[in-house]
Amino acid sequence: MDLSFSTEELAFRDEVRGFIAGSLPSDIRDKMRLGWPAEKEDTIRWQRILNQRGWAAYTWPKEYGGPGWTPTQRMMFLEENQMAPAPDMQVFNITMIGPVLIQFGTKEQKERFLPRARDVDDWWCQGFSEPGAGSDLAALKTAARREGDEYIVNGQKIWTSTAHMADWCFALVRTDPNAPKRQMGITFLLIDMKTPGITVRPIISIDGTHHLNEVFFDDVRVPVENRIYEENKGWDVAKFLLGNERTGIARLGKSKERVRFAKEAASGMRAHGGALSDDSEFRRRIAQLETDIKALEITQLRVLSAQKAGESKQDPLTAVLKVKGTELLQATSELVMDVGGPLAMPDWAQELAALSNEPELGPVWATEATRSYLMLRAASIYGGTNEIMKNIVAKAVLGL
Ligand SMILES: Cc1cc2nc3c(=O)[nH]c(=O)nc-3n(C[C@H](O)[C@H](O)[C@H](O)COP(=O)(O)OP(=O)(O)OC[C@H]3O[C@@H](n4cnc5c(N)ncnc54)[C@H](O)[C@@H]3O)c2cc1C
Repeated sequence: MDLSFSTEELAFRDEVRGFIAGSLPSDIRDKMRLGWPAEKEDTIRWQRILNQRGWAAYTWPKEYGGPGWTPTQRMMFLEENQMAPAPDMQVFNITMIGPVLIQFGTKEQKERFLPRARDVDDWWCQGFSEPGAGSDLAALKTAARREGDEYIVNGQKIWTSTAHMADWCFALVRTDPNAPKRQMGITFLLIDMKTPGITVRPIISIDGTHHLNEVFFDDVRVPVENRIYEENKGWDVAKFLLGNERTGIARLGKSKERVRFAKEAASGMRAHGGALSDDSEFRRRIAQLETDIKALEITQLRVLSAQKAGESKQDPLTAVLKVKGTELLQATSELVMDVGGPLAMPDWAQELAALSNEPELGPVWATEATRSYLMLRAASIYGGTNEIMKNIVAKAVLGL
């Protein structure tokens, strides 16, 4: 196992770091340093800048407008992007539907959708989960029946991130309710969100933002030409999509950036009569987090090293990356919130304080830290819950 980077890889990292430093618009960077989530416009603006350089579709091969990078280069790019800090690529466009179209799409589907996904002319969302079908995704009930050249879709999806701003949704639907196995009756459809019969209802999450939705389909007509792969073979497409891109799953760059920010912010805060950054308990906590980040980085390098050695099978260690990576994201967001202390009271609580004549407002980074702490509770749920990941680790890594 070789865990060191080659001279070329180190030069590549410098090139990426230099480009991001010189090209990321300062208003986006400033906002993200304060912990604000990237808005749709920020994501589109940044992704288009990267696309001009040929980097936006960072997991795609060259013939489809990607850079054709190795897994190590992809990981380096993601980490530099997160540490900048810059908005992530539109995940549904780049790491989900793009690779699916490349693998399973017809020539027409590729030509129609890939360039628009890369440049975010279309904003995609993912219609997989339903009430009663999350971890057990094959239990999904949203039905599609064929009528001539169209499917008629009826049912409900839930937790559909950004559906309210999406142009298109890729969805799993049940086309054969009598198939001998549940997985055998599912089809993968591309649905235009402007089609009559679609209703999007907001779900406001614990951080007070509108990111999630319920999506209802009521006799929604989808042309058969918008089906990916064969009818009743959608489960193969879904498995490919869910297992496809795991190198970035640990989001280590994000955790590193948050620790760096916490250290800076702590020098301006007071604890026990001195700067918080000099407090021994604070320093112990930083040391622990930095050690955990380093340990996970080494696990990530082991996964990459196996990929470099040509192992094509999905490495079950990626489940460890998901569990530990999300635990670290949660721990580092908690760290920044704790640095803010009482000033990290979220803005809706501050409005209440103002009513009771206590209008002490914290700095933006502190109140945003609480919002981000609350939102990141979900990181151990989406993308496969951590309990499911631990089941994978128990079986495939520990052999239990
Ligand atoms: C912020 C956020 C964004 C999301 N975005 C999207 C999206 O854009 N599109 C989309 O399709 N979905 C999305 N989801 C849905 C997400 O994929 C599901 O929430 C997830 O798969 C879990 O399913 P569930 O919520 O139905 O919980 P359940 O599957 O009902 O699980 C409930 C609890 O039981 C545990 N559990 C379930 N089965 C097992 C088992 N076999 N062994 C041990 N424990 C188990 C789970 O770990 C969990 O703690 C999003 C979710 C969140 C929170």
